Amino acid sequence: MKIPFTGGCACGAIRYECNAEPILMGKCHCRDCQHISGGAFVPFVIVPSEAFRLMKGKLEYHFTESLKPGKHKRGFCANCGSRLTGAESDTPSPIVGVVAGSLDDPTWFRPQMDIFTSDAQPWDLMDPAIPKYEKYPPLE
Ligand SMILES: [Zn+2]
Ligand SMILES: [Zn+2]
Repeated sequence: MKIPFTGGCACGAIRYECNAEPILMGKCHCRDCQHISGGAFVPFVIVPSEAFRLMKGKLEYHFTESLKPGKHKRGFCANCGSRLTGAESDTPSPIVGVVAGSLDDPTWFRPQMDIFTSDAQPWDLMDPAIPKYEKYPPLE
């Protein structure tokens, strides 16, 4: 992975840049992520909020209920519908998650854990080599 790393949505209206290494990478199997992605999970790359900036366009936000305090804030492109960010709360958040599919070079994505496996689908094949958490990982 090259720092800064960049990415964007399907239509090109939104472009982002991150000038820090990811804090954590994983796959979220919760029902909200299934609805939003249309797939079995969302692959996420957690970075410090201060390292993440939009270079072009503006995110719209959709909020879902969260087990943590506040709501889960999910950013997307209003023009093409691509989901780009998550893992933030509706209060100022020290971290932001970007979805791995939005990266300009998604090949460096290395999931370190599966989370919300309690919602995982039976047709969702998971890597047995990485840790699994029924909900959020501990200490988050
Ligand atoms: Zn777009
Ligand atoms: Zn999720």
